[in-house]
Amino acid sequence: MATKENIITLPNPDLRQRSKRVGMITDEVKQLIKDMESATLDWEDSRDHEVGVALAAVQIGMLHRVVVVRNNFEDKNDRTFITLINPEITKLEGEIEEDFEGCLSILDTYGKVPRHNKIRVKALNIHGKPIRITAEGFLARVLQHEIDHTNGVVYVDHIKNEKDAFYRLGPDGKLEKLDYDKDIKDNKTLWGK
Ligand SMILES: [Zn+2]
Repeated sequence: MATKENIITLPNPDLRQRSKRVGMITDEVKQLIKDMESATLDWEDSRDHEVGVALAAVQIGMLHRVVVVRNNFEDKNDRTFITLINPEITKLEGEIEEDFEGCLSILDTYGKVPRHNKIRVKALNIHGKPIRITAEGFLARVLQHEIDHTNGVVYVDHIKNEKDAFYRLGPDGKLEKLDYDKDIKDNKTLWGK
């Protein structure tokens, strides 16, 4: 079973690689999904102020287009997930909104990221059946973040030049603004060399 130790973090270059489409949903793919869920929950159990809302397969070093998303963002006791295989955004709608995002692969850093507040997504479920989702608000944000991962994009890439967008999670669970020039601009962890 995968644990939080299996989660890769920047500057691991796999996080900027495009993942491969899943063909058959084999036992290996099903095991991968279980590993993604257990790694997310193990990570959450180790963090005092955060919820593990979703994970893409690349984040445990497997370059497959698979995403798992918590069924209930409000209730930590609901430890179930929905699986999206080969997820694709079919339509970006609504307004662009800025809000905070974190990532299990970028520890303690948060960013204010502009995203569409309504999207449509198509994917396969764990049985290989096509599903369509219309998502709004936080779920729309989470799905854009995770589908980015399958394309080798991390949220910081969207705000690379935004001086006021970066925050750090303090030990008390509060977000503190980072100094862009000092902490972000030439940060080798975030941007590689
Ligand atoms: Zn992420």
